[in-house]
Amino acid sequence: MELSIDLLKQIAINVYDAINPLLGTKKAAEKAQRGAGGDISMQIDLIAEKVVINTLENENANLLLISEELGERYIGNKEKANKSQNVIIIDPVDGSNNAVRGIPYCSISIAYAIGRTINDIKKAVILDLNTKDIYWAIKGDGAYLNNNRIHVSDLDITDNCFLELNLPMKNFFKHLDNLRPILKRSYRIRVLGSSALTLCQLAKGSMEAFINLRETNRLVDVAAGLLILKEAGGEIFSLNGSKIEGDLSIFLKFPFIASNNKLVPFLKKELSSND
Ligand SMILES: [Mg+2]
Repeated sequence: MELSIDLLKQIAINVYDAINPLLGTKKAAEKAQRGAGGDISMQIDLIAEKVVINTLENENANLLLISEELGERYIGNKEKANKSQNVIIIDPVDGSNNAVRGIPYCSISIAYAIGRTINDIKKAVILDLNTKDIYWAIKGDGAYLNNNRIHVSDLDITDNCFLELNLPMKNFFKHLDNLRPILKRSYRIRVLGSSALTLCQLAKGSMEAFINLRETNRLVDVAAGLLILKEAGGEIFSLNGSKIEGDLSIFLKFPFIASNNKLVPFLKKELSSND
């Protein structure tokens, strides 16, 4: 049975109801164990993940859950899950550090695939845990913010472009130096702290490009944003300009560049001259 977009939205709203009151509190910040994704889980991450699991179990869903804290786990009947190829990829809180410090930029990210590759992602929901805005997309059917269709901006590099930068702390200044030709042409540079939500900013035309060079960037962070951005007319590609591909897995990590379609030739040209 295929999961409906309404169920994915309901999961996100349930997480919002549990998490929003905790944003910026001491309870949210209590450390727990190291999550499967590699970061230290905080209470807020674990509470959000539990809400996701409870909602799916109440719906009697049979699927493979790939989630930042627990890794990979079957919900319901494993045979049925494998037969239906239903996979759900979750970052229960993207921007956990913002969430516990009380910076209002964090989200829950949910992607739903029928199949085992990135290309099989069919539906996506990202909910802003501060504003309750819901970004969502169904493959082939466009991207939406709440009830309104959204689209990437049509700004070119000669316009006032907003860019978000997410660099690893290791070799930070070397990366910065390599990016000089791109940064010089940007109007404003932001570092906001939730990759999922920033892909939505691109999708709705509030920003033009997102350069994320962190090798530790996980599939769970971007699985939903990838579909939402594509359905809004944007593109996401790897540093050598190739398509982002791969099997759905908790271990899949990759740096990426995302942008509106107008900026793609400029970004690919400047990045290729770094080699
Ligand atoms: Mg997270």
